[in-house]
Amino acid sequence: MQHCCKVGRLTATYDLQHAARDGDVDGYLRARWLGQDEYTETGLRPLKEWFNKQLLKSVYTDHNRSTLATRVDADYEALSGEEPDISLLGELEADGIDGNQLRSDFLSTSTLYRHLTDCLSESKSNNAAEGDSDWEADKVDYAKEVVERSVRESLQSLENKSMIPEATRSTIKTEVILGCPECATQVRFERALERGYICQDHMASEITGPSDGG
Ligand SMILES: [Zn+2]
Ligand SMILES: [Zn+2]
Repeated sequence: MQHCCKVGRLTATYDLQHAARDGDVDGYLRARWLGQDEYTETGLRPLKEWFNKQLLKSVYTDHNRSTLATRVDADYEALSGEEPDISLLGELEADGIDGNQLRSDFLSTSTLYRHLTDCLSESKSNNAAEGDSDWEADKVDYAKEVVERSVRESLQSLENKSMIPEATRSTIKTEVILGCPECATQVRFERALERGYICQDHMASEITGPSDGG
């Protein structure tokens, strides 16, 4: 069967249609992203997490592993990090689950974005995007994925030219680091967003808590 993209393939492979209330994952993602029906407009990252956790729950159900929300949340955190959690991978393996396969199956925000815009032909106007409390983080996530894709292409070429052996086997980590113009303080973008300031001494005069939207 032909699938629109990774999102369509995963939905079919892991039988995720049931995850949405009316059996329509695309309709559900679209409504939440755009803030239609009874849904509050939602950013790509929470939607990506929702999808990936449904995938995890489906696999856990098939392997008789607990699908308690706390368990799924904690395992998802551990699995979706930069470095796989070795003890969790071992635990999953004992339950007959390939944790590395899950890691590569998890959607990225850019894949979900392409599914919504290309496969479902939806778009958000800039005005709508400003009402989306997560668009800033989504945009940075997206930029990091673009960087990683470009690096991967370069590595492929370097490997082909034998300039860096096995270059494509490497993991790539992209960080956006923000620095204080007055002192040596540096902080990751995500951390700055979380704590609400970049430098407490020189750049924290107007702290306003991040909005959670509606
Ligand atoms: Zn698609
Ligand atoms: Zn400073």
